[in-house]
Amino acid sequence: MRLVLLGLPGAGKGTQAKRIAEKYHLTAISTGEMLREAAKEKDTFGLRVQEYMNKGELVPDEWINSLVKSRLQEKDVENGFVLDGYPRALHQAKMLEAYLQSQKQNLDAVFFLDVSQDTLRHRLAQRGNLRSKEKQGNSQIEAKREKIRLDDKPEVIENRLHINKELMESLIHFYKEQNLLYVINGEGDFDNVFDNINEGLLSVNK
Ligand code: ADP
Repeated sequence: MRLVLLGLPGAGKGTQAKRIAEKYHLTAISTGEMLREAAKEKDTFGLRVQEYMNKGELVPDEWINSLVKSRLQEKDVENGFVLDGYPRALHQAKMLEAYLQSQKQNLDAVFFLDVSQDTLRHRLAQRGNLRSKEKQGNSQIEAKREKIRLDDKPEVIENRLHINKELMESLIHFYKEQNLLYVINGEGDFDNVFDNINEGLLSVNK
């Protein structure tokens, strides 16, 4: 299976992508994580990626397209994938479509994790709070360090929601037209949302 998870920042794509990958033996590919890894290198490319991420802006399409394209050519992707964070704009969706066509492949389904703006703001702010508590040296919070992200600051959160909302609408339209779109209620807890996705997957396999 080749799947895409769509959702605004905070919708829970990363968590669900990992669960789906584990259950269905697919490879989870997160462009956010790939970019955070690239940023850690602190080379010229990494530093520029970090600048975009700190502002909550998207990195240029050419960068992300070539990263994704080479990732999709790796061996562990042969049996299928679940993409999280990509595509994020119509250009990217078209590049993915063209690439898959060139390989005589196609997407099986696109899941949109539907979560209200209020819930998203709340979830992202909670991640951000963890970060500021950690700065004060709370050792319990230290354990959650890997979950803490520099872009979960209030002003950056608003920017990420704003930038992604319109782009998301165009992606939803694009995949609806292709009959690939499944809208999943993403409001509940992670187990509930996973159940909703699994229900959707049952009809994909029919
Ligand atoms: P979120 O969906 O919560 O913003 P991600 O981890 O998916 O989190 O992405 C973090 C950041 O990485 C984004 O704000 C953006 O700067 C960059 N990014 C991730 N995926 C893409 C993409 N497909 N195109 C451009 N930039 C991206």
